[in-house]
Amino acid sequence: MHMNDLIVKKRDGGALTTEEIRFMVRGYTDGTIPDYQMSAMTMAIYFRGMDRRETLDLTMAMMHSGETLDLSGVSGVKADKHSTGGVGDKTSLVLVPMMAAHGVKMAKMSGRGLGHTGGTLDKLESFPGWSADVPMERFLENVERVGMVIAGQTADLVPADKKLYALRDVTGTVPSIPLIVSSIMSKKLAAGADVIVLDVKCGSGSFMKTEADARELATEMVEIGKLAGRRTVAVITDMDEPLGCAVGNALEVREAIDALSGAEPGELMELCYTLGACILTAAGMEKDETSARETLERSVADGSAKRKLADFVAAQGGDPDAVYDTSMLPAAPVQLEVPAPVGGFVAHIAASDVGMVSMHLGGGRATKEDVIDLSVGVVLHKKVGDAVAAGESLATIHAATEEAAARAAQELTACYTITREKPERTPFIKAIIR
Ligand code: URA
Repeated sequence: MHMNDLIVKKRDGGALTTEEIRFMVRGYTDGTIPDYQMSAMTMAIYFRGMDRRETLDLTMAMMHSGETLDLSGVSGVKADKHSTGGVGDKTSLVLVPMMAAHGVKMAKMSGRGLGHTGGTLDKLESFPGWSADVPMERFLENVERVGMVIAGQTADLVPADKKLYALRDVTGTVPSIPLIVSSIMSKKLAAGADVIVLDVKCGSGSFMKTEADARELATEMVEIGKLAGRRTVAVITDMDEPLGCAVGNALEVREAIDALSGAEPGELMELCYTLGACILTAAGMEKDETSARETLERSVADGSAKRKLADFVAAQGGDPDAVYDTSMLPAAPVQLEVPAPVGGFVAHIAASDVGMVSMHLGGGRATKEDVIDLSVGVVLHKKVGDAVAAGESLATIHAATEEAAARAAQELTACYTITREKPERTPFIKAIIR
């Protein structure tokens, strides 16, 4: 078999066979197929697409390109959640303990962020002493005993995706549905959960700009998950403005703790309850969404979800007291209010640009080597649809210096669109795909 023939076949609109796909993934992972041939192939796939059988074959071949996590020794239902990524997304910090409090086992291998804020691991490092480094034996023991682990990758999962994603990133071939589906689903399948819930973001602050694109991606991922034998559900949610109020690592941890402490529920809790209800019903632990939601609300009201977060922090070497006393989390020395330049209604907040404000403050990484300042970021006080008077605070900047704060305030003002008319609000949860 020759890679050149496969490129020509795909370029001309043909479907690759299972064997051809396995050959390609194996060869690219072990280095016998060079980057230049794989770039041509990803571009051919970008233009010609793949049918569902090809996408499944690609997903399975990628999943088997390295180790897979065997959770069969862990009792009960094992679930995992994936978000396609957005600004201010602290969902895992709330959802995972909520699930673990209900006896669902959550074994999450997360990454570090490149871009506007850190990833979940960076955020969790706001807890003094907490470590993402969990050797495999302890990983499985903690999943069983605590009910949840969030750790850096301990096994060599899906090496094919590491190479392929890096290649796609520099060859204009990231936004291809079969390539995204196989990239995300191969990692989720390799991580071993029985139930997979996918949070597919749509809007200006996300990967999929339109609802139609988000639906197509969500449907493909759910179908591939099901064909691979996992109970898979996707929720399509709005990312036209940041999720919740905080953007920045420790600030997001604080917001997550507030949510678990029963703070007035906004869209963050709406999302966590929706994703949680999808997991509990897919796992057969609740009969319908309504009863699942009531169960989840009880775990916040009775403090059990928050206790679970504290147990998890302690199990990974952190100080659990910080869950109850958030003054122990990193805090920036400078805080600056951002006044509204005019009165009216908030019509739009450019989510990606807010992410960039946080990054410029030092809250994100431009390169893998950058060190994140966990304390900095932005807390929004006004969200889309809110009325605002001229001079009223739109947000608070948390910065390391006065100069950085002043610069960020200017940038943040530009993220807001304020109009005289109250804007129409579109639903936050757009669809659930089962
Ligand atoms: N996230 C991934 O892990 N892979 C993609 O291809 C896109 C987003």
